[in-house]
Amino acid sequence: MKTKLFLITFFLTNLTIAHAFEHRAEVVTRNEKNKPMVEVVVLTDLVSKESFDGEYFKIVKGKSDEAIRFDDPEELSFRAATSYYHLMRARSYFVNNIKSQYAATLPKMTIRIDHTNQFSELGHFAHDNLEPQFNNALTIPAGKGLASKGVKPWGMEIWFRPMKRVHLRDLKTNDLGNAEFQVLMMKFRNQIHMQTLQRFITQVVIAVTASGSDSLSTDSLIRTVGSSVIMEAGYQFYEPISKFFSRKWYWLDSALVPEIIYHEYAHAALSDHLVLSHSTATIEGMADFFAGQIADSPTLAKKIKKYNTFNGKDATKKQDYMLQFEATAYANTDFVFGMLWEIKNILGEEQGEAFMFELRKKINTNSNVRVQLVEGILTTCDEICVSPFVDKLRILKALNLRGI
Ligand SMILES: [Zn+2]
Repeated sequence: MKTKLFLITFFLTNLTIAHAFEHRAEVVTRNEKNKPMVEVVVLTDLVSKESFDGEYFKIVKGKSDEAIRFDDPEELSFRAATSYYHLMRARSYFVNNIKSQYAATLPKMTIRIDHTNQFSELGHFAHDNLEPQFNNALTIPAGKGLASKGVKPWGMEIWFRPMKRVHLRDLKTNDLGNAEFQVLMMKFRNQIHMQTLQRFITQVVIAVTASGSDSLSTDSLIRTVGSSVIMEAGYQFYEPISKFFSRKWYWLDSALVPEIIYHEYAHAALSDHLVLSHSTATIEGMADFFAGQIADSPTLAKKIKKYNTFNGKDATKKQDYMLQFEATAYANTDFVFGMLWEIKNILGEEQGEAFMFELRKKINTNSNVRVQLVEGILTTCDEICVSPFVDKLRILKALNLRGI
């Protein structure tokens, strides 16, 4: 009987994996110091022998429905392989480590690389001419489509924008015109650190000249993905990879940055409670938190501890809570990220991680930081914390120190 059962199980298992293929490919990974490197890895759970079409993710170019092929030009297949690999890691984290039923049963996602169109809730893709997007990434909610216009329904998708190199001189940065990007990032971290990089650069850009029709718009070129701490990790990434690297250039090749891929997948995996309607400090902070967990890098953790605005040891300007944090323009400050990270450290790694995953049920995308997020945190502690009374006191003490 046992043998028979074993044989049946064996047969069934073989049946289900009959179409799963593997493919060896070069991808960007991180070494133990969190520095980027190129490594050959095995991509699993593919349903095609020729393309990046898998059980859970299909990687396509732009608006196409066809999966990118293994033998497509390297600049395309390298990005496809890297994003596929890290999406699988992120999925595995949510399914196996966090035991998320929702992530386990998410329908297969289409992942768009080199995609410049803006998102349209009705039409899926906004018109090609409408302010094409570069240097960022976006997770979009599923849509019903528009049969009368031939727009088919679509599922949740992640879009990686192509990178576009912008010379700092062309951004007409004031005194920073000849500064290296490193300097710009340091100023960003030290002075502002609580608004998006885009806003920061816009502020240092000399007012665009009157003739400025051909001037580059920083607005469309520079958007941050994730908070400034995650952003810095991404920035540091590209130096050893690119042959043409120059610090006088800015770009973000989002499909090649592991933390950005994790951030975007986290949005998808948390979307059972944190719907993907718009960017808020709460939803971005939660996605950053899980991006940090998936990256599981002591070096990155050290960096987060050192520089986050909430309580970073080396943040020149530790920031007390401000009402502005609730505004969309500030959604990518790392205040909430730093706050969640600190609460995890108070509760301990294991309890803290379970806590944050439970927290998503007690809040929503529109939760404000000062009242609803804090209430969500305290309610979660009542249910999850080992010693709720003591733990809540410790959490409240940390929050009070930052003016909450
Ligand atoms: Zn985000």
